[in-house]
Amino acid sequence: MSTQNPVFIPGPTNIPERLRHAMNVPTMDHRAPNFVKVLEPLLADLKKIFKTKSGTVITFPSSGTGGWEAALTNTLSPGDKVLVSRFGMFSQRWIEMCERLGLEVDVIECAWGDGAPAAEYGKRLAADTYHKIKAVLVTHNETATGVTSDIAAVRKEMDAAEHPALLYVDAVSSLGSMDFRMDEWGVDLAVSGSQKGFMLATGMAILGVSPKAFIAAETAECPRCFFDIRDMAGANAKGNFPYTPPLPLLMGLRESVNMLLEEGLDQVFARHHRLAEGVRRAVDAWGLRLCANKPEWYSDSVSAIYVPDGFDSNELVNHAFEAYGVSFGVGLGKVAGKAFRIGHLGMLTDTLVLSGLATIEMAMKDLGYPITLGSGVAAAQEYYRHDKHIALKKAS
Ligand SMILES: *Cc1c(COP(=O)(O)O)cnc(C)c1O
Repeated sequence: MSTQNPVFIPGPTNIPERLRHAMNVPTMDHRAPNFVKVLEPLLADLKKIFKTKSGTVITFPSSGTGGWEAALTNTLSPGDKVLVSRFGMFSQRWIEMCERLGLEVDVIECAWGDGAPAAEYGKRLAADTYHKIKAVLVTHNETATGVTSDIAAVRKEMDAAEHPALLYVDAVSSLGSMDFRMDEWGVDLAVSGSQKGFMLATGMAILGVSPKAFIAAETAECPRCFFDIRDMAGANAKGNFPYTPPLPLLMGLRESVNMLLEEGLDQVFARHHRLAEGVRRAVDAWGLRLCANKPEWYSDSVSAIYVPDGFDSNELVNHAFEAYGVSFGVGLGKVAGKAFRIGHLGMLTDTLVLSGLATIEMAMKDLGYPITLGSGVAAAQEYYRHDKHIALKKAS
């Protein structure tokens, strides 16, 4: 099977050549002065990606899941009440982590395919007159269902209720692909990882931490050690790490941030919207349906697509890999077997996305899906052809 084909999974995403080179570094002494020269400007530039001036960006050797844990354990105490909505596999896993950490979890149950219900958050916060709720958790982009939620709307509800809880946002599959405004939205803990919008290998959690979150860290009693943000922020302020840093990933992150800022964040977001819209046109042309229940929730980084009744999405994903050497995302949790996912985030271009659409069409046709070969590709082609006002900057 060719390993040259791009992947269409929503993470880990394709690693651009430029980043593979950047990660290929000889050993550097992380206690030597030249490490300071790498770390300080990197952490400063990462703030531009989070759109924060007052916050601090912290990285941990870990996957995104470790970022969740760092956010929770640094700022909360066992028994603290957490308000969170569940609408997919990732929001679900974050809830399970809260439970395992001994937090008291108030879950707003939503249909899979819906986004975070801001008004319901507001209602529960307003009812919490004694401010027992310490944390409000929202998954910005639910990667299992391809749903993007309105974080600003949740913040508005928190403010309207004059509630002092901290706002925690899972931005793992949105940061660097979709607009994210840590300061403007009043996010206290923003969690991301290296292998989605940053286009790197897995292995780093990347967090945005507000000044209010650092204050909470002073009294929070959940045990943490490796993930202590005070140790990390303290060492980072002196240009080093409390333990050996994952140097190749940090060098990759340096180059990834360069790429994002060179293209321009607005351009990056517009490209993702454009790629996603082409995929959505294809889905429509196939006569299939997205998991996302309303256009306002359509994700620009991943589309989850229901297969027709009587078909098994796992079989489709397996077949696409076996027959054509191309990976698509399987359905997770409640939509396992019922939906497959096309990840369209990271280094992709119109041309690469068209190749993915063409491939999944072949796989569907092979398995007897009632679709016309080329129909989805043509719909995306028409869109990409006519939507030329966005000049694509080539990823080099
Ligand atoms: C990928 C992802 C995570 C983190 O997963 P890891 O495998 O631990 O990196 C968390 N939340 C969302 C929404 C994700 O897409």
